[in-house]
Amino acid sequence: MLREFWDIFVKQYGRTGLAMSIGGLALGISLLEGFNIGLLVPMLETLESGEAGGHWVSQALALGFGVVGIPFRLPAILLALGILITIVAGLKYLRLVLMAKMQSEFITWIRTTYMGSLLRADLAYFHSEQMGSMTNILTSQAERAAASAGHMAEIITGLLLIMAYMVTAFLIAPGLTAGAFGMVLIVSLGVQYYVRRAREKAQEGVERNREYQVAALENLSGIHVIKTFLLEKSRWADFSSRAGAVGLVTYQIGKIRSKLTIIQEVALFVMIGGIVYLGVSVFSLDIAVIVALLFILYRMMPRVAGLNTLRQDLAESMTSLHAVAVAMEAQVQPSIVSGQTPFESLKKDIVLQDIGFSYNGSGPVLDRTSFSIEKGKMTAIVGASGAGKSTLMELLLRFYDPAAGHILVDGVDLKDLDLESWRRYIGVVSQDVFLFNDTVANNIGLGRPGVTATDVEMASKQAYAHDFIVNLPQGYDTTIGDRGWNLSGGQRQRIALARAIVGGPQILVLDEATSALDSESEQLIQKYMNGIRGTCTLVVVAHRTATIRNADTIVVLQDGRIVEQGDWDSLMDSAGVFANYQQLQAGG
Ligand code: ADP
Repeated sequence: MLREFWDIFVKQYGRTGLAMSIGGLALGISLLEGFNIGLLVPMLETLESGEAGGHWVSQALALGFGVVGIPFRLPAILLALGILITIVAGLKYLRLVLMAKMQSEFITWIRTTYMGSLLRADLAYFHSEQMGSMTNILTSQAERAAASAGHMAEIITGLLLIMAYMVTAFLIAPGLTAGAFGMVLIVSLGVQYYVRRAREKAQEGVERNREYQVAALENLSGIHVIKTFLLEKSRWADFSSRAGAVGLVTYQIGKIRSKLTIIQEVALFVMIGGIVYLGVSVFSLDIAVIVALLFILYRMMPRVAGLNTLRQDLAESMTSLHAVAVAMEAQVQPSIVSGQTPFESLKKDIVLQDIGFSYNGSGPVLDRTSFSIEKGKMTAIVGASGAGKSTLMELLLRFYDPAAGHILVDGVDLKDLDLESWRRYIGVVSQDVFLFNDTVANNIGLGRPGVTATDVEMASKQAYAHDFIVNLPQGYDTTIGDRGWNLSGGQRQRIALARAIVGGPQILVLDEATSALDSESEQLIQKYMNGIRGTCTLVVVAHRTATIRNADTIVVLQDGRIVEQGDWDSLMDSAGVFANYQQLQAGG
C-alpha cells in the first residue's frame, strides 16, 4: 500500500518539496503545542496557590524567564501563552493552505496524466475496457486517490502531535501518564475489529461505485436502443439496484463509524475518571498537574480517534490510488509505436503481404491476405459482413499491427514509418461517424491546422454537403449537438466525407462511406471519386457492389481470406463468388 503511494506520489508526481514543507510545519506545530502545555502548569499553579514554581517544569520555565529578564508571574505567562497560540494558529493556517494546494494539484495531475495516457493508448485498449470504468477513474476515483496525499499528511501530523503530547505528559507526570496510556492502548486494541470491518466495507464501496457508474453511462449512451427495445423499466430497475448497493455500503460504513465514535467517547469519560482517581489516590499529585494531564488527554484523544478514521480513509483512498495506478500501468507502453521514417508521398504502391491477424483472444480474422493498392488507382474490398474488411482498414491506419506478414508502403514496412505523418496523409470515412460538439466548420477542418474557410467550403461542395450546411440556422457556424444527433445519417456521412477530403489527402479510405446516402447523392459522390482518380489513391470498402463498378481492382474477401481479385468485368466473366454476390444484390 505504502509502496504504491511512494511510487505514484514521490516517483511519478514528484512534488516532494511541497510535502516536506507540510511535514516541517507539522513538526513545528507539534513542538510549540508541547511547549504551550508546559506553560499550563505554572499558570494552573498560580491559580491554585497564587504562585508558580512547585513543579520542576515551572521551575525550569521560571529559569528561562529569568534569563530573558521577565518576571515569572501570571500576566507574563498568559502573554507568552497568547503569543505562542497565535504563532501556532498561523502555522496551522499555512499547513492547511498548503494541504489544499497539494491535494488540488495532485488530483489535476492524476486526471491529466490518466487522460494523456488514455489518448496515447492503443485502440485495442478501448475495446477491452468499459467506458464507465474509465470515466469512473477520471471522476470519483481520481478524487479519492488524490485524497490519499492529504490523509497521509494528516496521519503524519497526527502522529507528531500525539508524540508531542506523550513526551509533555511524561515530563509532567511519568507514573500517571504510563497508566493513562495503558488505558488508551486497551481502547485502541478494543476498536480494531471495527476498524478492520470499516476497511473491508470501504473496499467493497469502491467496487460498487464503479459498477454504478458503468450502469449510469451505459443508460445514457445507449438511450436509443433502450427506447427502441422498451428497456426503460428493466434498465431503471437494474440501475436502482446498483445505486441501492452504493447507498447500502455507504450506510454500513456510516454505521461502523458511528459505533467507533460512541465507543471512543465513552472510553474518554472512563479514562478521565481513572486519571483523577489514580492521580489523587495513588500518585497523590498536585491538582495543577492532574488538570494539565487531563487537558493533554482532552487534546490528544480526538487525534487518536482521528488516526483510526484516517487509517480507514487512507485505506479507502489507497484502493482508488491502486485502481488509478493499474489503469495507468495498463497503457504506459502502447504496443503501437511510431517508426522513424517520415512519410511524404506515395510513389508506387502499398503492398499487403501474407497478413494474418486476430483480435485479442478471438479466432483468426485475417489469414494470409495479400494484395496491393496502387497509387492513383481505386481499390475496392468487398465481402459479407464479418469478412474482415474493416479490420483491413484498421491495419492500414496502423491501429493494430498484423500478427503475421507485412504492410509495405513503397517497400518500407509500415511499422518503420512515422505514424503521425502517415495518418496525416490519409483521409478516412469510417462506418461510425463521430461528430464533436462544435461548429460544422470545425468538425470538417478537424486536425488540419492550416485549413481555411474556403478549403472547408470547397470540400463540402465536393462531398455534396454544402447545400444543406448553408441551410442550417447559422450555416457553417452552426454548432452540432452532442454526437451530431440533430443531423440525419446521410448528412452526418457527408460531413465526414468533407472532413476526409478537406486537406486534399493522398490516400482516401472509405469504409462503407456512402451506405446512408440516397441514390442521388451517392451517384454525385461517385462522380467526384471518378474525378480524383489518378491524383488520389482510393481504397473503398463496400457492401453494395453497385458503388464499385469503376474500381481498378476488386478484392473479394471471405472469412478473412481473399477468394477472388480482378476488375469488374473479369470477375463477372469468371462467374465466381463476386458474380454470384452481384447477382444476389441485383435481385437476379
Ligand atoms: P467487416 O468489416 O467485413 O464486416 P470486420 O473487420 O468488422 O468485418 O470484422 C471481422 C471479424 O472480426 C468479425 O468476426 C468481428 O466479430 C471481429 N471483430 C471486429 N472487431 C473486433 C474487435 N474489436 N474485437 C474482437 N473482434 C472483433
